[in-house]
Amino acid sequence: MKLCKSMITIDSINNLSYKLNASIAGFKNMLPVASVALAVVMPIALSSPAKALQVQMTPKSPRLGDTISVVVSLDNPASGSNVTVSSGTETYTAYEIAPNKYRAFIPTTPLEKPGSRTVRVSGGAENKNLTFQVGARKFPVQRINLPPGKAGVKATELELRRAREFREVRTPEKFWKGAFIRPNQGRMSTQYGVRRYYNGVFANDYYHRGLDFAGASGSTVTAPAAGRIVLVGTVAQGFKVHGNVVGVDHGQGVASIFMHLRQISVKEGDFVQPGQKIGTVGSTGASTGPHLHWGLYVNGKSIDPMPWLNGTAEK
Ligand SMILES: [Zn+2]
Repeated sequence: MKLCKSMITIDSINNLSYKLNASIAGFKNMLPVASVALAVVMPIALSSPAKALQVQMTPKSPRLGDTISVVVSLDNPASGSNVTVSSGTETYTAYEIAPNKYRAFIPTTPLEKPGSRTVRVSGGAENKNLTFQVGARKFPVQRINLPPGKAGVKATELELRRAREFREVRTPEKFWKGAFIRPNQGRMSTQYGVRRYYNGVFANDYYHRGLDFAGASGSTVTAPAAGRIVLVGTVAQGFKVHGNVVGVDHGQGVASIFMHLRQISVKEGDFVQPGQKIGTVGSTGASTGPHLHWGLYVNGKSIDPMPWLNGTAEK
């Protein structure tokens, strides 16, 4: 059967008014006039210009731990450029990355449930709801046995506060450019997202919030991307869990943290280039041996740094 364009239009309008009628079926007997009025009004609404707001989401099939990039293009910037992207209870800032083009990053973590998410995008005078699926991912599991009464080192108020402030940093500028580079040449010893049992009890809130590199003590730690040093903390100041720590703001809600350092070569406020030395590998804080812990945060959540290392997070 051949369909001409007008037939398709008529068919979809009929279908739509059918759906509208069906959805208000409960009121239909009471409000027959309203139902008819809607069916008449809809074709006019359908003929209004659409597609002024375009949204592109990547990756196509995200899994827990991935960073979801939401790029919003506005064809008609005259109608305003206040672009917002929200999902669940969170609203993510969309930063302008090109004229009339905005991007927000949605972090996902192993603590979330896989499945369907709805993203609400608004820009100019338009709103769009999009649904996407976040796939499950199996993370390795570690079993840790602690002697009775020994719960490990506890973080101090100071380091909890400074770590929270670090996660809350949002800078509209974008400092990084392209793929991130690994911050240490040591072998990767623990991947992102590892879950744990402590004495046989699953730790619901725990996942390994970063990558570990088994670099030798004293080996160089470099900035994986450009950014501003926003956190420098030491064991002497009370960073009992983090140890000597450095936090780098890469801009637009993306930030790196480096833990258990032996030595720190930067100070707060410094601007670093990719590959620039920020310190050396150590075993300070809650660490059982020399290694570098690198955590990468997007809008306050620790995401898998791998897509940032291979450059796919921005695609
Ligand atoms: Zn680690």
